[in-house]
Amino acid sequence: MKTPEPFKIKMVENLNRLSKQQREKKIKKAGYNVFKLRSEDVYIDMLTDSGTSAMSDKQVSRMIETEQAYAGSDSYYDLKKTVEDIFCFERFLVVHQGRGAENVLYSVILDEGDYVPNNMHFDTTKANVKHKGGTPVNLVIDEAYDPEKKLDFKGNMDTEKLKSLIEEKGPENVPIIMLTVTNNTGGGQPVSMENIKEVSKIAKDHDIPFFLDACRFAENAYFIKKREKGYGDKSIREITREMFSYADGFTFSAKKEGLVNIGGLLGIRDEELHLKCKNLSIIIEGFPTYGGLACRELSAMAQGMREVIKDGYQEYRHQQVKFLGDELLDRDIPLIEPIGGHAVFVDAKRFLPDIPQKHFPAQALTTELYKEAGIRGVELGTSAFGETDEEGNIVPAEMENMRLAVPRRVYTINQLRYVAESLKEIFDERHNIKGMKRTYAPELLGHFTAEFKPIG
Ligand SMILES: *Cc1c(COP(=O)(O)O)cnc(C)c1O
Repeated sequence: MKTPEPFKIKMVENLNRLSKQQREKKIKKAGYNVFKLRSEDVYIDMLTDSGTSAMSDKQVSRMIETEQAYAGSDSYYDLKKTVEDIFCFERFLVVHQGRGAENVLYSVILDEGDYVPNNMHFDTTKANVKHKGGTPVNLVIDEAYDPEKKLDFKGNMDTEKLKSLIEEKGPENVPIIMLTVTNNTGGGQPVSMENIKEVSKIAKDHDIPFFLDACRFAENAYFIKKREKGYGDKSIREITREMFSYADGFTFSAKKEGLVNIGGLLGIRDEELHLKCKNLSIIIEGFPTYGGLACRELSAMAQGMREVIKDGYQEYRHQQVKFLGDELLDRDIPLIEPIGGHAVFVDAKRFLPDIPQKHFPAQALTTELYKEAGIRGVELGTSAFGETDEEGNIVPAEMENMRLAVPRRVYTINQLRYVAESLKEIFDERHNIKGMKRTYAPELLGHFTAEFKPIG
């Protein structure tokens, strides 16, 4: 690794490692759904990079120093200064996490029957749009669906598809255009500055507000720095400021690049829209200077955002994720390529070609990895993104992945190598893996609580 960790370890959390027999019992009891495992029964937890970052000593000390107040805490003003500095947004609301921002925003701007374009909706954004009677539409470039196609900016939106959608449905039925940076669902793939600019222009031409789903804004900025012409000498902060300059607003889960365990933001430039969202937010999230969080969380978020835009941190972060990807590719494991910013996505269609998607191959792989090695990934395939038709048949998702998210500043290179070696052992014995039958799933965000049984 070229850039070693730009930190040293001050405190550790000891890990628990169960035997394979113990894990077999645990996963069966969990209905073969890793969301239902107790985390103490997991050895390496790659379920998500959300809310699982290691905090810095500065974040923790700011949490203790800050005042706890219902209104006007210094933590809010520290956060406000940071949001103004990094995103150049004067108006924003604090929310308890990303989906809180989505709920407030879509409650205010969506009418029944509206369409919401995005490069690709994340599970919570898709569910929030549907919950308000809207239709989420994914308009990412076609190449995003080809896991082997190597492109620098595979998260870009297809702007021709966007123009056709607006023309077909009418701009009055498209109340917002979203762009997710980086594209989590599609493999953590970045969006180029050129694409952000173009989408923003189309939005402006039709008088439609343009919002970024900005959970991983700095990881996206780093990709722009490395891959897009003209940005090599710019800092992450400068690139971030330019990205946000094209947006009318943003949703942000601080559980990702706020480097905190909980929190989120909803940025809005328009005064009137901000006021409407603020009034609703007071009812469902909390007073604007705390937004459903303890004030100490705001302090940690502000400090985390200042740390996440450091070029040295991003350099280390990207190399860490790429290390895991390269170790897996060296062992012939089929992945979405190129490797994304926060996770490695294992292509279950190619890993388990004999299991049809209606038997949830990515789910089968995820449970197998836990059983064999105590590693927890997550299914992002037909369980998370598939549909059920009117006759109750399963309509498969376009992509069938197991995501191994890399929590920030948490695992060492040795631990990541263990993940690669474990998955290789499963790959060599993959013909023994059976598909799954789903025995329970609610209508929205079904994968969190679904239950399964191995077939045969
Ligand atoms: C995590 C995430 C969200 C939702 O944020 P939460 O804090 O989990 O509610 C929305 N969009 C994307 C792209 C995400 O990764």
